[in-house]
Amino acid sequence: MTAYARPSSVDEALALLAEDGAVPLGGGTDLAGQVDRGLRRPHVLVDLQAAGLDAIVDRDEGVEIGAAVTLAALLDAPVLSPYEALVIAASTAASPLLRTVGTVGGNLCQHTRCWYYRSPELTCWLGGGDTCYAQLGDHRKHNLEPGDCISAHPSDLAPALAACGATVVVRSPDAERVLPVLDLYRRPTAESRSLLGLAAGELVTAVRLPAPPDASAYVRAGERQAFSFPLVAVAAARRGDAVRVVAAGVANVPRELDPLDPLAGLPGHPQTGWKRDLLAALVERAVDALA
Ligand SMILES: Cc1cc2nc3c(=O)[nH]c(=O)nc-3n(C[C@H](O)[C@H](O)[C@H](O)COP(=O)(O)OP(=O)(O)OC[C@H]3O[C@@H](n4cnc5c(N)ncnc54)[C@H](O)[C@@H]3O)c2cc1C
Ligand code: SF4
Repeated sequence: MTAYARPSSVDEALALLAEDGAVPLGGGTDLAGQVDRGLRRPHVLVDLQAAGLDAIVDRDEGVEIGAAVTLAALLDAPVLSPYEALVIAASTAASPLLRTVGTVGGNLCQHTRCWYYRSPELTCWLGGGDTCYAQLGDHRKHNLEPGDCISAHPSDLAPALAACGATVVVRSPDAERVLPVLDLYRRPTAESRSLLGLAAGELVTAVRLPAPPDASAYVRAGERQAFSFPLVAVAAARRGDAVRVVAAGVANVPRELDPLDPLAGLPGHPQTGWKRDLLAALVERAVDALA
């Protein structure tokens, strides 16, 4: 049986999360589906909604966004309008209804949508098994990078935040660390089958944006305009002459790209070569939009 807790502070949430089998719950739009299918069996769901993580704070040199802020709230915050890539990414993620529930922390920490990983009948390599079923079977929507797991990173917010230079605040009961958004992610290894660089009991409490870039853009291709994960998404941001480009959908994790050679290290797989053309076109479009 799964218990439910609704802590009223971050410290209380962290104390609960220190227990074995405790899992943070944002809006549940990803987690509930996994629990429903028996893919995850948490002992305690630690609901973050009353833990004081739902504010967007204008700081001297940037903005701090609490981890429990919803995607919809990002769109209603005038202080975020100079971060155009983030606003577009938030407005295209999921659907209007899901955005009223899904949170920033949950969006960044959501699990891969790989259909083999999500199958209740299979335990694939990433889930702790021996086989990457995608590499044997249907991997049309998977990534472009060789590896043990070829799942594609799903979050719209992650590349936009990374391109804008955001950091993530991660807390445990006795420590806080602040890391670049891209460092929240890692490629899985045989010893650690996780795409997130979070230790047990650690919680994302906030995202910090520096001062807005001079220009930023977000372009994505999905199967539909709404209610459709990005097949490939590209965020670009410019500060002076320096351009930063980060993509989702092309690697296990959000991947920073060289704007002049965006396909480097991304050869594709038998069924995903089409994503290379798409990626090249979207990078060109995103960089052009910065002019
Ligand atoms: C039909 C559908 C379509 C979707 N389309 C898109 C899309 O196009 N683009 C997109 O980006 N997303 C999409 N999503 C995903 C959705 O946006 C995210 O699932 C949502 O933002 C996740 O937020 P949540 O608060 O509901 O996460 P939850 O489901 O509550 O949590 C997701 C995961 O993150 C962990 N977690 C939650 N908060 C924290 C925290 N603060 N610190 C550490 N771990 C945490 C949870 O334990 C869980 O493992 C879609 C989801 C669905 C169901
Ligand atoms: S791509 Fe990754 S998540 Fe999907 S089946 Fe292979 S190992 Fe599992």
